[in-house]
Amino acid sequence: MTPPAPTDPSPLAAPDPRASAALSPAAPPAATPEAGAASPPAPVARLDPLLPCQAAAPALSGRAEVRSCAPHPAGGFAITLSETLFYPEGGGQPADHGQIGGVAVIDVQRVDGVVIHRTEAPLPTGPTTQAVDPARRRDHAQQHSAQHLISALALRSFGRATVGFHLGALDATVDLDGPLRPGGLEALRAAIHAAIAADHPLRVIVVDAEELAARGARVRGLPPALRGPVRLIEIDGLDLNTCGGTHVDRTGALQLVQLFAPEPLRGGLRLRFRAGGRAAAALDQHEATLSALSARLKVPQDALLAAVERLAADRDAAARAAAALEDDLADAILTAHSGALALLDLPRAGAGLVLALGKRLAAAPGAAVIGADSLLLLGACAAAGPAVVAALSAGGASCRGGGGKGRFQAKGGPWSAEARAAAMGCLGG
Ligand SMILES: [Zn+2]
Repeated sequence: MTPPAPTDPSPLAAPDPRASAALSPAAPPAATPEAGAASPPAPVARLDPLLPCQAAAPALSGRAEVRSCAPHPAGGFAITLSETLFYPEGGGQPADHGQIGGVAVIDVQRVDGVVIHRTEAPLPTGPTTQAVDPARRRDHAQQHSAQHLISALALRSFGRATVGFHLGALDATVDLDGPLRPGGLEALRAAIHAAIAADHPLRVIVVDAEELAARGARVRGLPPALRGPVRLIEIDGLDLNTCGGTHVDRTGALQLVQLFAPEPLRGGLRLRFRAGGRAAAALDQHEATLSALSARLKVPQDALLAAVERLAADRDAAARAAAALEDDLADAILTAHSGALALLDLPRAGAGLVLALGKRLAAAPGAAVIGADSLLLLGACAAAGPAVVAALSAGGASCRGGGGKGRFQAKGGPWSAEARAAAMGCLGG
């Protein structure tokens, strides 16, 4: 697709990458929007009717009739209603949860045009009540509307089209078809914040196929000929694209969008984000983490990065000093333990000292070092590896290793004094 010029004021900016899935939650590829969600080619495609949840300001509770109840193949029960207020999974957006007749609804899918509610308990046919979980609906609406906003701004400002969307339990992702320019992430964040502050209205617009073309809304994955209502979501002044999902009614209702550092993705870019309540909760969590770090390191928050860099430099220097000391210690041990065959039981030796000794004993006809939690057997001793492992494991502590060609290594521990003595016995020490 050809992106508009950065100054293009056209609201017809970003087609939903999940076009056909978005038109109706029942569209078959709805659960995998990244796949492109293309409908099978057909001379004329008839789209599913719109659901009440796809109207503007949809009701979240009401009455209905249970039409059928049967065991669900995935467990629980499959319920159909005379009319549902629930959103079935589709277009990258998970299903609503809630209650029917006081029984928990744990999944909703549209199968061959029929909305199936999966419940934890059976329900009798006849009149009932239904109630959508409002917090889950609002959370999904915030994430989905944030995706539309991010997609629209990425296209308008950077010419990057959205090629995938996933709404997960923890965060959501938008996949773009190319990288942002240097400084682009900061610019995108600023544009998102400005759009939230501007409080643009979001509208549900339903058109027929002819009007869809006349409006110039760009769509992808739709069959060339179709019938039925086509649902569009407009962000006033910013965006117009096909979508079947649930949305907030103004960008101000997004509250906040937290955009993480992008990850490269097959020549494109994956933007991970959290919107609304999720972003607010993350902000609170990050504040708690920073406060704890600040107290632990005894520096103000704005000095944390420098403090951590100092700690990392100290750690690297300490590691270098320890390695030098291990070399010196290895030399001293071997000077004190002269002879070609060295069987060393060193209960306090770390892996670094074991390796330093091993390096010095590499040419020995047979040598073994058993440290605190690692061992190295060389030359003739290597053949005893399995017996040594068995002896060390017999005491109940773990020991695993292997090797070949005159070298056997293992890790484990802590090994008791008895187990170590038995292991040395296997080596003839
Ligand atoms: Zn959408």
